[in-house]
Amino acid sequence: MPVTATGTYDDGNIFARILRGEIPSKRVYEDDFAVAFHDINPQAPIHVLVIPRGAYVSWADFSAKASDAEIAGFVRAVGTVARDLGLEEPGYRLLANAGVHAHQEVPHLHVHIFGGRQMGAMLPRA
Ligand code: 5GP
Repeated sequence: MPVTATGTYDDGNIFARILRGEIPSKRVYEDDFAVAFHDINPQAPIHVLVIPRGAYVSWADFSAKASDAEIAGFVRAVGTVARDLGLEEPGYRLLANAGVHAHQEVPHLHVHIFGGRQMGAMLPRA
């Protein structure tokens, strides 16, 4: 069920539970600001999610409320994970869904990293 990107943070969302270690995930990276793990339902040969440790619903929420250190740390983590996965060549796609129109399902900011195949057109034709 898509979520609104402007709601208050729900501490029981699935990624909050992954951060607290309450449910398992296949982690590929973690530091003080971010955690990255394999998506449970991969849409590409490589499909990894990168999330900030802080409680932010969406990109708007994060960019408005996070500290400069959190923002820099998260953005650096996304780049580090893509590089560590060996995706710089031949390339990869980043995606961050926000709100109902983007079909955001989990109300904790996350960036998808897709790789390992040709990604095709940026968006399907409506
Ligand atoms: P969204 O549509 O919110 O951008 O994407 C949420 C993503 O989280 C989906 O790709 C979905 O497969 C993934 N996901 C949902 N629940 C879990 C889970 O429990 N573990 C992991 N690793 N991924 C999950």
